[in-house]
Amino acid sequence: YHVNIPQLPPDPLFGIKASLAKDTRENKVDLGIGAYRDDHGKPWILPSVKLAEDLLHHSADYNHEYLPISGLKKFTEEAAKVILGEESSAIKEDRVVSIQSLSGTGSLHLAGTFINKFYRKKDDASFRAVVYVSDPTWSNHMQIFSSCGLATTKYPYWNDATKQLKIDQYVQAIEQAPKGSVFLLHATAHNPTGMDPKPEEWKRILKAISDNGHLPLFDCAYQGFTTGSLAKDAWALRHAIDSGDYHFPGILVCQSFAKNCGMYGERVGAFHVVLPEHDDALNSAILSQLSKIVRSEISNPPGYGAKVVSLILTTPQLKKQWERDLITMSSRIMGMRKQLVVELQRLGTPGSWNHITEQKGMFSYTGLTPSQTEKLAHDYAIYMSKNGRASIAGLNPGNVKYVAKAIDDVIRS
Ligand code: PMP
Repeated sequence: YHVNIPQLPPDPLFGIKASLAKDTRENKVDLGIGAYRDDHGKPWILPSVKLAEDLLHHSADYNHEYLPISGLKKFTEEAAKVILGEESSAIKEDRVVSIQSLSGTGSLHLAGTFINKFYRKKDDASFRAVVYVSDPTWSNHMQIFSSCGLATTKYPYWNDATKQLKIDQYVQAIEQAPKGSVFLLHATAHNPTGMDPKPEEWKRILKAISDNGHLPLFDCAYQGFTTGSLAKDAWALRHAIDSGDYHFPGILVCQSFAKNCGMYGERVGAFHVVLPEHDDALNSAILSQLSKIVRSEISNPPGYGAKVVSLILTTPQLKKQWERDLITMSSRIMGMRKQLVVELQRLGTPGSWNHITEQKGMFSYTGLTPSQTEKLAHDYAIYMSKNGRASIAGLNPGNVKYVAKAIDDVIRS
């Protein structure tokens, strides 16, 4: 036999993490992976999570048994309410199918596998949907969908020169895509640009998707990080479902609790299929097929994080605490954006920096070039993605001046 296994380079983001771990400089700064850090640069266990863990550990039925294949029902039901809203027409009309997933990535993988197996056109046996993703998008999107056997292509999103959305070209791309394409939409806190469409822009995007018979897939990894409010951050998705202004073949929703519960490593997430109308048989068929995919790939989803999150969602004081935790995280990040801009302006750093405060969520698409980011890592021990995406959560009062001065230096050099 013949072995041909090409060596791949390390994953760009986890590669940054590895370089950072090896760096022995004391003043090193991690602006790489999107994980929340507190004012001292430390991982933060949310108070709501600590309280829920305490409750869980003291409950009579605390154990490590297998969950059902489709996950913890209490968790998937509550997760749907978090994202679609307590008053969601889709939940009331029983047209949502939910299944637990391995966080957001697992949810996207379920979506991709489901689309590849079942998304067909009645009159065209050869139809295979292409997944449209924003240019740029989270670096993992393309490889998730291609590993599910789906082709991906990009729609225009970000204008580097103006630091704004290319909204006209975006809508045009939707209009020109083959009917039935899948449009992946970042529900809130777009990764990597931190720039979401405004409500009027969302309406144009959703109308074009609806008018042209496409399938929207909302990827929601940062609910609560943009504004601190779960409802506001889910506005676009809820508007797509509840306004009655659009007609979609369905809406797919990939939900992660990694960031908004700080449960990164516990892999807590859900995949929801929102159907246009109530159909018991179809609900049941979809759940059976999704369960088969889960069974063959992971057998059953992880229990611990789902139990913790479901306790938060079903215990009113814990839910209130979680909402406060979201405000703590989102407002600290907003505060750091402001401080970084103030420092850059104080230094008179060439260029305009207001986009950093206009952008929302975990990231800023700074506009720094690959060679500038390399220099920041090499000369200053400041690590961020090569494309200039900085995880603002890595800034704190102890390092923001140092980071601003380093950016100033590399821009002037
Ligand atoms: N979608 C986007 C846009 C993301 O940024 C992320 C996390 N970086 C995810 C999905 C999924 O993350 P996880 O699998 O950790 O929930």
